Amino acid sequence: MRVAVFSTKKYDREFLTAANDSHGHSLEFFEARLTKASAPLAREFPAVCIFVNDVMDEATLTDLAQHGLRVVALRCAGFNNVDLSAAARLGIQVVRVPAYSPHAVAEHTIALLLALNRRIHRAFSRVREGNFSLDGLMGFDLHGKTAGVIGTGRIGILIAQILKGFGCNVLTFDVQQNSEVERIGAQSVSLDELISQSDLISLHCPLTPETHHLINSESIGQMKRGVVLLNTSRGGIVDTDAVIAGLKTGQVGGLAIDVYEEEADLFFEDLSSEVIHDDVFARLLTFPNVLVTGHQAFFTQEAMEQIAATTLSNITEIESGTDCPNTVTVDKVLNKTQAR
Ligand code: NAD
Repeated sequence: MRVAVFSTKKYDREFLTAANDSHGHSLEFFEARLTKASAPLAREFPAVCIFVNDVMDEATLTDLAQHGLRVVALRCAGFNNVDLSAAARLGIQVVRVPAYSPHAVAEHTIALLLALNRRIHRAFSRVREGNFSLDGLMGFDLHGKTAGVIGTGRIGILIAQILKGFGCNVLTFDVQQNSEVERIGAQSVSLDELISQSDLISLHCPLTPETHHLINSESIGQMKRGVVLLNTSRGGIVDTDAVIAGLKTGQVGGLAIDVYEEEADLFFEDLSSEVIHDDVFARLLTFPNVLVTGHQAFFTQEAMEQIAATTLSNITEIESGTDCPNTVTVDKVLNKTQAR
């Protein structure tokens, strides 16, 4: 199938090209993000392959449907950037990569937690400048602390397991029960309990209308003073202004994020010679107790291989009319919610 592949970097092209040896699709790579403005590039392609910050809204889907679009292949797990109802109405199938390496994301989340808590980012710069002072570098023992994990799917359960290994008391909240929670010795509690009792909170639920700004000024107000927040899920789950207010008063003791509400205009690009126009993001970077990575939690060799292989298999299955288990539809999402 002819596939227009958006938001591609050298590494995407390498992994997809290698995986395509066993599929034989005709891949055309575009560096541009898919937006309404760049959508004409995808006209006359039956398949479009997109990533986390591409926008497949109703207008773009309608435009491309009129030019032969049949498949949207997400090369990520999240699908918050695709209008599923519009896709269904237009007869366009949406496929995704539900699980590539939950370990990649879980391990990066823990890397952020350890670096933030023990101030590794600050120590690294200091030592390179010959400054061996320890002032401002004090962390806390994770052992014995209460860790809250919101969302106990593939990634969240690994986080809970790793934190149990550190000797944390792990509280979890999910709208769907996961029997693994008890098996690993964590405790399933209400969201309110988790929020009010945790010393650190890690977010692993998807971005949906229900989870948008789940972390806001009210929930932050209910948290323990000095709480550490981790978000490697989706930026929109956190109200950044509210967290900044919390960081200023000390209510929030640390923030480590791999995702940011307005990341689409920043992440994945080298902007080191540019002025950052996003004042909220710029403010975040001024805090000594904030650590930001640019949506790299998924970025391991194993995950990239798996993403490329699954993305192309999904397209092959749709092309051959086989039932693709990785299809995302409104019904599937609703059924999953109703089963909870
Ligand atoms: P998953 O589907 O396996 O698990 C998500 C869990 O969240 C499910 O158990 C679900 O029941 C739960 N959930 C849904 N709504 C909820 C709510 N309102 N409150 C609490 N829990 C809720 O997904 P996963 O593979 O564990 O991935 C989690 C998220 O991580 C994804 O949605 C994606 O946004 C993000 N992600 C980020 C990266 C990255 O590179 N930073 C990579 C992959 C995934």
